[in-house]
Amino acid sequence: MQLKDPSLFKTQAFISGQWVDSDKGETFPVYNPATGELIAQVASVGLNETRRAINDAQTAMTSWRALPAKTRCDILERWYNLVLENVEDLALLMTAEQGKPLFESRGEIAYGASFIKWFAEEGKRVYGDIIPAASDRRSIAIKQPIGVVAAITPWNFPNAMITRKVAPALAVGCAMVLKPAAETPLSALALVELASRAGLPPGLFSVVPTRDASTVGSEMTLNPIVKKVTFTGSTQVGKLLMKQCADTVKRTSMELGGNAPVIVFDDADLDLAVAGALVAKYRNSGQTCICANRIIVQEGIYDAFVEKFVAAVNQFNIGNGLDDTTSHGPVITKKAAIDIHSKVQSAIAEGAVVASGGDFSELGECFYQPTVLTNVNDKMQVFQEEIFGPVAPIFKFTTEKEAISMANDTPFGLAAYFYTEHMGRSWRVSEALEYGMVGVNETAISSEVIPFGGVKESGQGREGSKYGLDDYLEIKYICMGGLQR
Ligand code: ADP
Repeated sequence: MQLKDPSLFKTQAFISGQWVDSDKGETFPVYNPATGELIAQVASVGLNETRRAINDAQTAMTSWRALPAKTRCDILERWYNLVLENVEDLALLMTAEQGKPLFESRGEIAYGASFIKWFAEEGKRVYGDIIPAASDRRSIAIKQPIGVVAAITPWNFPNAMITRKVAPALAVGCAMVLKPAAETPLSALALVELASRAGLPPGLFSVVPTRDASTVGSEMTLNPIVKKVTFTGSTQVGKLLMKQCADTVKRTSMELGGNAPVIVFDDADLDLAVAGALVAKYRNSGQTCICANRIIVQEGIYDAFVEKFVAAVNQFNIGNGLDDTTSHGPVITKKAAIDIHSKVQSAIAEGAVVASGGDFSELGECFYQPTVLTNVNDKMQVFQEEIFGPVAPIFKFTTEKEAISMANDTPFGLAAYFYTEHMGRSWRVSEALEYGMVGVNETAISSEVIPFGGVKESGQGREGSKYGLDDYLEIKYICMGGLQR
């Protein structure tokens, strides 16, 4: 990996403005999932370092929150510019540790940077209210930074899942301690290096990589200095963190698992629907929380849809993400590939038909063939659970009512998509879907300007948009009385 700026390749923890080894000198390995190569040994911190980072975050926040919003936001703007100036290096680091093709990594860096820019602007607009009240008083609501924030982030978007949390937190005057996923710490460490170069004061944003997520996570959730925990990851870990946060009544934002349906009605534009479903299913090799998990197609258009969908999947070029001709990379680990295969095998045992793929790929132990399954039903694991891999089960339905009921038949509620050319149906179905986000004739729904988040067991809180600041703010009511004395 030849970086233009080799000093972006960091393997230590960044605590209180310093690059440091772990107290015990412990490290953990980071591998390239495409080749199995060891690419780094990264400092693995424990409880003491995490506690230090939290204490120093509290100290750093005192002067940071007192700065004019414009001064804070100017530093974020500089960080944004530095990220864009280093997009090639950041993309290389990401592809090496995460596996996604370079074009997707470049896209994620730009997407991640857009949150920094957005919140550098929004951070100047934290307005309060003056509430009409009796004549001898004025009732006022002001918004203040919530306090020290702890963030825990996943490996599927090693850059953007960080910036969409840290940018709003810093913009409103909070400090943050972040634990990146052990699979992808290098992207996080390069990001904080650039933040530091942009002029962030020491202690305000620390990154604590570790192989011991539960120890660091426990300190983050139990330490009374931390006022808020923001998490993106599995529903299982999210629930655990919420329970741990209960003892100190911390605020939480949870962006958890999904089980996104893509409903295709008979009246849909077939080519548009196929193209949208392909992107929604196979981006990042099926490893996004808003990936199409269940493609649900009306019976009149079913065969035509499957034919076009399979033909397109058969054109994919699977390979190492660093190769420019690669359209789809590996999955994150061998274990992930094994989990995906077990879901496919279980579906086949229950009668599913393989229309494409259906097995491990010969390219390496983290590669799985892009797979399409037909003759599937709602009792199968591939309907009930998040697949998180390049497997598309295509279900059949008859009526609109049945499609809505199938789509909502899950504890999850993150993103849903549907394709129709019918105006009334667009509204009816949008309003009936129990999801935080709905794409109508569109599956590329994410950006920094929209409120991203789920309902039901997919989580709580919204990231991005003007609402994304609220997660890092407390509302204080001030009553000024005695005005007629
Ligand atoms: P996935 O299965 O996709 O890796 P996880 O929810 O396990 O999803 O991981 C998301 C993030 O949660 C990662 O940063 C991981 O290290 C962290 N994590 C996993 N287990 C715990 C835990 N017990 N406490 C705190 N963080 C955890």
